[in-house]
Amino acid sequence: MLKRRLFPLSDHLYPPDPWRLVETGFSEHYYARAETIFALSNGFIGIRGTFEEGRPVLAPGTFVAGFHDTWRILHAEEAFGLARTGQTIVNVPDATVVKLYVDDEPLFLPTARVREYGRVLDMRAGVLTRELTWLTAAGKQVVVRSMRLVSLEQRHVAAIQYEVVLPEDSAPVVLSSEIVNRQDADSRGFPPQERPGDPRLAMAPRERVLHEQCRAVDGMRLLLGYQTAHSGMTLGVGVEHLVETALAHAVQADATADRDKVVVSAEASPGMALRLTKLITYQSSRAVPASELVERCGRTLDRVKGGGFGCLERGQRQQLDRFWDRADVRIEADDEPDRVQQAVRWSLFQVAQATWRAEGSGVAAKGLTGQAYEGHYFWDTEIYVLPFLAYTQPRIARNLLRFRHSMLPKARERARELNQRGALFAWRTINGEEASAYYQAGTAQYHINADIAYAVRRYAQVCGDEEFLLEVGAEILIETARMWEDLGFYDKRRRFHIHGVTGPDEYTTVVNDNAYTNLMASMNLSFAAWYARELQDERPADYRVLASETGLKESEVEAWQRAAQAMHVPFDRRRGINPQDANFLEREVWDLDGTPPERFPLLLHYHPLVIYRYQVIKQADIVLAMFLLGDEFSLERKRANFDYYDALTTGDSSLSACVQCVIAAEIGDEERALEYFRYALLMDLANVAGNVSDGVHIAAAAGSWMAIVNGFGGVRDYDGRLSLDPHLPSTWQSLEFSLRFRDRQLRIRLSHDEERYTLEEGPALNIRVRDDRHVLTSGEPLVLTPAPSR
Ligand code: BGC
Repeated sequence: MLKRRLFPLSDHLYPPDPWRLVETGFSEHYYARAETIFALSNGFIGIRGTFEEGRPVLAPGTFVAGFHDTWRILHAEEAFGLARTGQTIVNVPDATVVKLYVDDEPLFLPTARVREYGRVLDMRAGVLTRELTWLTAAGKQVVVRSMRLVSLEQRHVAAIQYEVVLPEDSAPVVLSSEIVNRQDADSRGFPPQERPGDPRLAMAPRERVLHEQCRAVDGMRLLLGYQTAHSGMTLGVGVEHLVETALAHAVQADATADRDKVVVSAEASPGMALRLTKLITYQSSRAVPASELVERCGRTLDRVKGGGFGCLERGQRQQLDRFWDRADVRIEADDEPDRVQQAVRWSLFQVAQATWRAEGSGVAAKGLTGQAYEGHYFWDTEIYVLPFLAYTQPRIARNLLRFRHSMLPKARERARELNQRGALFAWRTINGEEASAYYQAGTAQYHINADIAYAVRRYAQVCGDEEFLLEVGAEILIETARMWEDLGFYDKRRRFHIHGVTGPDEYTTVVNDNAYTNLMASMNLSFAAWYARELQDERPADYRVLASETGLKESEVEAWQRAAQAMHVPFDRRRGINPQDANFLEREVWDLDGTPPERFPLLLHYHPLVIYRYQVIKQADIVLAMFLLGDEFSLERKRANFDYYDALTTGDSSLSACVQCVIAAEIGDEERALEYFRYALLMDLANVAGNVSDGVHIAAAAGSWMAIVNGFGGVRDYDGRLSLDPHLPSTWQSLEFSLRFRDRQLRIRLSHDEERYTLEEGPALNIRVRDDRHVLTSGEPLVLTPAPSR
C-alpha cells in the first residue's frame, strides 16, 4: 500500500465538473499547481497555465518539442563511456504576456479586488478561458476576459484573446503585449530551486542559451529568430496582433532585446470593449537558419490572420470531437461521480495534449508542461502512453514509433560504445544520445530496448499494421534482439543469463538476472525470430531486402530463438515467487512502516547505497512484467508475487500505481485496486507525488487509462487476440469505453446487471470474454451476464 497523502483540489475553489476544470477564485495556495494543471499543449508547442498579466508566477514556461540545448556533462570522476552530452529543453520566449493597466493601475491578482472570477479549462473545446470583474482603486469596474488555445489543428500556432470593458466608467486603458525571453542566466531563479538536490529538476543554465539572430517589427507583427548556444538549433517566433475596438486607440511597437512589446492605449468609455488578439507561432529546426524560420513564421501568420481566433477555436473543437469520439471513458461512480469523471477526462486530455501533434518528435516525461527531467524521453512513451494510443489513436502511436526508429543510428553507436552488437537505446534523451549521467539508474536500464520492441509488437498486433512492421518495426526488432543475444551468456547448464543491468525498479541497481529484463528480453528475442521466419515464409522478396539491408543471417535468428528459450528467470520455490533478481531476496527488508512519511520519496532522503542494500522498491517491476506478459504467469503466481512485492513498493515513482491497480484488479483485490486507481488518477490533480508544479506526469495520466481498461475492464491482447475479463468495482454503477482493434471500432459497456459488447464498425471479430469465445458482428451487440464477484 502506498503511504502517500492526497491533496485534493478544494471543492469550493475547484468544483467538480465532468468536462471542465474550473477555478472559481485566485488562490495564493494553488496558483503554482494551477500553472501545470491549466497548461495547454498540442505536442509541438506547450504553454504553462500562467496568467496573461505575467504575475504572480512560479515557473513561466513555453516549450517547443525537441528544441533543446546541449552541455557537457562534467563527471567528477570520469570513466569510459559515461554519458557526455547533457540535453535540456529550452524555455523559449514567452508570448503569453498581456499586461493590463487601468488609470495606470496594473491588474495584479494577489492584491486586486476581484469579483466573479472564473478560469475554465474546457476539455471538449480545448480552450482555457478566464473571466473576472476587477474593482480598481478608484472604484471602477473592469470586466476582463481572456481566452487561449494551442492549436491541435495548426501545429505551429497558439493564440490568446484578451478583452477589457468598463461597463459604467471611462478610463485610460493600456494593454502591453510582450514577448519575454527569460530562459537564460539573467533570469536565474526561474523556477525557484525549492528543492536543491532534486535530480528530477532541470539544470539551471549557466550562460545565455538563446542568441538572437534576427528581429523584425512590421506594424503590429513581431518576428524573432534565435540560435542555441551549443546544440546549434534554430528557433523562429512570430506574433501578430489584431486590435478590435470602436474606441479611439494608439498602438506602439517597442523592440528591446529580450522584451519586445506592442502597446495598445485607448480611452475606454462605458460599455465599449477593447479586444486584443495575439496569434503566436513557433518554428524550430536543426538545419534551417533562423532567418528562414522567421520567414516561415510570417507565412503562418499570414495564413491564420484571416480566420482569426474564431477559426482556430472551431478547428480546435473539431479535433477534440475526433479525439473524444474514440477516447472517452465514462464511469458512473457512487462517490464523487463528477470528480472521478473530471479526473479521467483531464488525464486523457493531457495525453492528447502531449501527443496530438508530436509527429517527428518524442513525448517527454512531462509532455510540454514543464522543464523537469530536462524534457527527456524515457520508456514512458512505449510502455505507458502507447497502449492508450494504439487502442484509440493509431495514427499517433505509429508516428511516435517512427520517431523512435529515427534514433536507431545513435542507438547503434551507443551499443558499440558499450561493447555490444545491435543497438542500445538511450535511457534518457532528446536527440538520441544518452543523457543519463547516473548510469546505475540510467544507462543500466537496458530494458528500454525490450520496452521499445514490446511497443512495436503491441502496436502491430492491435492495429494489424503489417507495413509498419516491415518498414520500421523489423529493423528495431533485429537490432534490439542482436543486442540481447550478445549481452547475455550461457552457464554450464545452458541457461541464458543477463548480468549487470537495472530493471524498472531504480531502488535496486546493476543486478544479475532482473526478472523483468530477462522476461522482456526473451519476448524481444522470440518475437524478432518469429517475425524474421514469418517474413521469410510469407514475403520472401521482402525478407531478402531486409536481410541484405540489416546484414541478417539465418544463424542469428536461430541464436535468438535459442537464447529466448534458455532465458533464466529466477524462481524461489519455497516462497512460490519470482525473485526480482538473482540476489534480491538475500537483502534485508526495508521497514516501510517505520519510515516517517516526510522521508518519502526515499531518493530525496537517503544515499543511493543505503537504498540499494535493502529490499525496497521504487516502482512496479516484476508486477509490471505480470501485466505486460501476463500469459506467462499463473493466477496463483500472480497473487504470490503481488502480495510479496506490494508490501515492499514505495510508489516513489508515479509510474507504479496504475500497474499495481491492474494486477490487483486481476487477482480480485478490489480494495487495493481502487486505492491504486485513486493514486494513479489523482497523481497530479491531488498532487500525490508532491511536485505537480513541475509538470504533468504523462505516464501516470496515460496509466489511468490502463488502470481502467486493462484493470477494471480486464482487456488483454496476448498474441494479438482480444480478451476481456471485467472486474467492475462494486462502488461503480457502470463503465463504458471504446477500443479500436484491427480496423474495428468496439464499444464496451459494463454494469452489474449486464455487459454489452458492440461492434460499431468493421468486419466480424473473435473475442474472448472470461473463458468463452464469441464472434462479434456489426449491429448485433453481445450481451452477457456479469460473473459473480470473486
Ligand atoms: C522513473 C522512471 C521514469 C522517469 C520519467 C522516474 O522516476 O523511475 O521509470 O521513466 O521517472 O517518468
